[in-house]
This record gives sequence, C-alpha cells and structure tokens, in this order.
Amino acid sequence: MSTTSVAEAARWFAEAASITVLTGAGVSTDSGIPDFRGPQGVWTRNPAAEKLFTIDNYLADPEVRRQAWAARRTSPLWTAEPNAAHRALADFERTGRLRALVTQNTDGLHQAAGSGRVIELHGTAREAACLDCGARMPMTEVLPRLEAGEADPPCLECGGILKSATISFGQQLDGDVLDAAAEAARDADLFAAIGTSLGVYPAAGLCDYAVAHGARLVVVNAEPTPYDDVADAVLREPIGDVLPRLLGV
Ligand SMILES: [Zn+2]
Repeated sequence: MSTTSVAEAARWFAEAASITVLTGAGVSTDSGIPDFRGPQGVWTRNPAAEKLFTIDNYLADPEVRRQAWAARRTSPLWTAEPNAAHRALADFERTGRLRALVTQNTDGLHQAAGSGRVIELHGTAREAACLDCGARMPMTEVLPRLEAGEADPPCLECGGILKSATISFGQQLDGDVLDAAAEAARDADLFAAIGTSLGVYPAAGLCDYAVAHGARLVVVNAEPTPYDDVADAVLREPIGDVLPRLLGV
C-alpha cells in the first residue's frame, strides 16, 4: 500500500486539470446518515435487512413496502445537513477543475451543499417513482399521505406501486447515468474515491476506467478497499478533516 502523505496528494489535486470524484456512504456519516457496509453498517449488523430490500420482495410483498415506507418517513435524511466534506467538494467545484462528482449516495447532500456537477449513480431518495408508469414526484409530496394514514401509497396517476427513486438490489442502474459516470472517469487525470468501500459494481469499476486511461487514483476511506493496491495514494484520515486539506479549499 502506498505511503503517500496528504500534502503530496494535495499537490496532485492542485496540478490536475480534470478531476472526477466518486463518493460513498462514508461522506455522509458525519451528517447522521448511517452507512450500510461499514463495521457499524446497517447491513453488517443485520444481514437479513439487506435481503428484505430487493426489488422482487418489494414488488411481491405489501409488508415489505409498508416497512420501507415507515423507514422513509422517519429517515434521518429529512433533518440531515451537509457536513465539512460536502462543503469542501462544493467549494472545490468553483475552481472549474471538477469534471464530475459521481456519488453512490442517494441523500442529495452534495446538491444541498451547492454542488452542481453531481451524477447520482444509485438514484435519489428525495424523489419517489412509480414502478409501473414511471411517474416521478418529490418525496415531500408522498410523505404527507403516510401521515394521513396510507401505509403503502399507490401512484396517483395509474394506481401502481411507488418506491423511492433509488436503485434497489435487483434493479439495473440507469444506462445514461452510468455512461456519463464512465465518461467522467475516463476523462479524468485524477480520480478520487472517497468514503466508499469500493465493493459494489459497477460503481467500483469506475476506478478501473480511470486508471486504464492514465489517471492517478486516490482512495480516502477508513477501511481497506480492493483498490488500495492499485491506488497511488490511500488515506485513512477522517474524511471531514482530510478533504479540505486535500482539495485546498
Ligand atoms: Zn404510475
């Protein structure tokens, strides 16, 4: 594993003309959004919960949908604020050298911090989508229906099943979104993977695209990742501390 210092990696950020960043759950934990696969992750502690949230179970079982809606209603998302890492990335975008901010997160906190070049690989929990007709609406239009007593609110257009506009297990990523992320990875001369365990594909594969096209790879994550051996720098420091130093903001 590389022993590159934060200061040296920061020089690479200062010199790079085109930087693509991939963020994962570790960027939002300081905002009170739990991660799923870390040591204290939701699914690490309760593997059965991961099985529950497959698209097939969601479509087949009204009880799964009721549980999912109850969780959305009480999600920490609705009170979460962007943290130092989100703000550092939004500030860095103003340098004009951020090619794209690709995120596995569905919490919308990058946009809340002011980031504009966001590619949401796994969709957004701030919208609901109909699994039958494709209608989309802000989640804030659906949550009041739960408050009013609907445990599994159907689509108002067609009566179909509604779900958060996120990618669940068993659902394909949006092809256009994935293409845009892959292009941003290939265009970058520096690719940074921040707060992601790089264990989920195709998100993790963006590192391969970037490296294959000659980019430097910087990994910032508390836990080891499968890409630590190919990374030019691996930084274990807390993300909220290290990002402002790394990005020079
Ligand atoms: Zn519908």
